[in-house]
Amino acid sequence: MSGILPEKLQVLALLWGILITYAPDIVLPLADGVLSFTYRLVMELVRDCLTKYQQGRISSEYLEHLQQNIRTLVQKAEEKSHSGELAFFKQLAQNVLMVLEYPFCSLERQETSEGDSEERQNLNVPDPDSSQQELNHDLIEITLPANTDGGLCERPEIINESASALIGSYNPRRNPCKSDYKPIQLIGHGAFGDIHLVRHKDTNQIYAMKKIQKQKLKEPRRLEQVFVERDISTFADCPFVVSMFCSFPSKLHLNMVMEYTPGGDCKRLLKSKGPLPVTLARMYIAETVLAVEYLHNYGVLHRDLKPENLLITSTGHIKVTDFGLSKLGLMRPTSDIYKATAEDIINEFHDKEIVGTPQYIAPEVILRKDYGRPIDWWSIGIILYQFLFRFPPFVGDNTIQILGSVVNDDIALRFQNISAPPEAQGFITELLNKNPSKRLGTGGANEIKIHPFMCDLDFDNLLSQKPLFIPDLKSDEDTWYFNKNVNFMKYKYIDSDEGDTMEDNDLPEVQNFVSSSQRYSKLYITNTEKMNNEESMSPPGCSSKNSVKHSNMEIKPFCAKPVGDNQCLTAKNIKSSSPLLSDSPGQKRTKSALKLRKEQKSEKVDEGGSKRGSIFRRMISSCRRGLSRAARAVRESFVSASYHQGSMIIWSPDIPPHLMP
Ligand code: ATP
Ligand code: MG
Repeated sequence: MSGILPEKLQVLALLWGILITYAPDIVLPLADGVLSFTYRLVMELVRDCLTKYQQGRISSEYLEHLQQNIRTLVQKAEEKSHSGELAFFKQLAQNVLMVLEYPFCSLERQETSEGDSEERQNLNVPDPDSSQQELNHDLIEITLPANTDGGLCERPEIINESASALIGSYNPRRNPCKSDYKPIQLIGHGAFGDIHLVRHKDTNQIYAMKKIQKQKLKEPRRLEQVFVERDISTFADCPFVVSMFCSFPSKLHLNMVMEYTPGGDCKRLLKSKGPLPVTLARMYIAETVLAVEYLHNYGVLHRDLKPENLLITSTGHIKVTDFGLSKLGLMRPTSDIYKATAEDIINEFHDKEIVGTPQYIAPEVILRKDYGRPIDWWSIGIILYQFLFRFPPFVGDNTIQILGSVVNDDIALRFQNISAPPEAQGFITELLNKNPSKRLGTGGANEIKIHPFMCDLDFDNLLSQKPLFIPDLKSDEDTWYFNKNVNFMKYKYIDSDEGDTMEDNDLPEVQNFVSSSQRYSKLYITNTEKMNNEESMSPPGCSSKNSVKHSNMEIKPFCAKPVGDNQCLTAKNIKSSSPLLSDSPGQKRTKSALKLRKEQKSEKVDEGGSKRGSIFRRMISSCRRGLSRAARAVRESFVSASYHQGSMIIWSPDIPPHLMP
């Protein structure tokens, strides 16, 4: 490695330059959800590359993996987005690819000279010498920022302006707005807003509209999470993930229009039916596993998997929703040649945030350790337990008790005379291993698919299997499964014998369900051919036959541009960021982003964070040891102020000192 030290420094500087030039607070939020998503993923990849470079963990295989992922993201962005921001994203990707090409070929050459010529042939790499010539030229072409001191820590305005100019290209498509939709009924409550059934006036299509109150988004990080949610849902293209149609602001809300799943959610099903039959529970879990596998492949951690976020479609299949707490990490397709180490998977995130819904949060998160994808597999273990026993395994009267139980208690695999089949017990036990390195799924979703409890299922054709429960719907406006007073009779299981002998006639229903979103897209998307070509990286559970249906179902966001008003800081920033609403959009966007940054800095959000962090650590370890009576009383007074039934986020624990034991 010593022979390439000067190049290494150069590459490090260039990677730093890219991170600084395209820093999120300069260019975010991108108006287009797909591009905002791909942009975030590329930045994560650059960040990871920089870290690995500094640690001396770079290999040509790793760099090839990285380049391939970036090319895939560019391809996806081109297929899914019609926004003028595409030029900006492609320039970012091109810059990164050029920077990576240099060390890739250099390492290639080095590894080859070490005698690994056979492997090089398999990888079909270009001739190192010719690449070298191109690379030197490329490196000259990339001019990344440097401040007057020769360092790279200041954001140069000149780069911002050129980036902004690219972002600000005009997109002629009409923006969606609130008046496009006729409200029909309230169907759900969330922590930050409500979900309404709505009808699109032009297309007559039914959708679910999530209305998030701007009032509850005053904290910048909360607003950022809403953008993450929008980006993931807009990009997602999986039959087991709820897709977004469009997003737009209104006076008081940020609105996200999603496909409507009329069968309710699994929490309501459990409430009305009690424990689910094993076959149904297994199928729901299998479909959730495919959704999570798809998300993980793109580096998305859901972080809030629970029965109410598993929705039931008109054909009785599962769709995962609610990315309000999700986190974007490293894109790592399972098919990729680069295999991450277990350490990389388990310790991907170091933010120490306690995020999720207490009963479903993995122990490593509660203990504020590093965490990664295994936290979602943990939640799936809890959900299966709940499907089979009706209640989650770890309970308590308040948040702290529940969190303490998750960390300390063992699961009871018999509960109120109910016991799960032995394979299910083994499956749950392996998913609920408190040690993430030993947890089922940590080595990839395949571990779960081949487990004895799941191995009978045909994961490639889950959609063509008839679920045990299919919602009984009277019309497309039927919201019965979202009513508060649940009618137990309506949750009727199909007789399992009947299910076996019946023709496979639910497939057309799937197609009908899928076609609705295509009709919607047709009105706004001119280039539907691109959509139908969407094949690569299609998720499992969607064989080539299903892939067609799946691509029909793909929701092309005709515009995911926030077009807000000036009502509050958040809305103002969103408006400033929209090239469609601004005379010289790029410049205004940059100024707005800088202003927001300054405002955020002045808020000093993290002041005293480390002190509070250590206080919180003390609280958790104390929780593990068992609570003294007095301490418990004090904590409960804290808990009663902060506890609510749904999802929770502890960004930076802020516990008043007088409440501490
Ligand atoms: P929380 O943070 O409390 O989990 P939230 O604010 O993130 O909630 P969601 O989880 O997205 O909100 O939605 C709340 C409920 O609304 C869901 O549990 C479900 O019952 C209903 N719901 C959400 N999206 C849809 C949809 N696309 N179709 C039908 N119902 C939906
Ligand atoms: Mg939810």
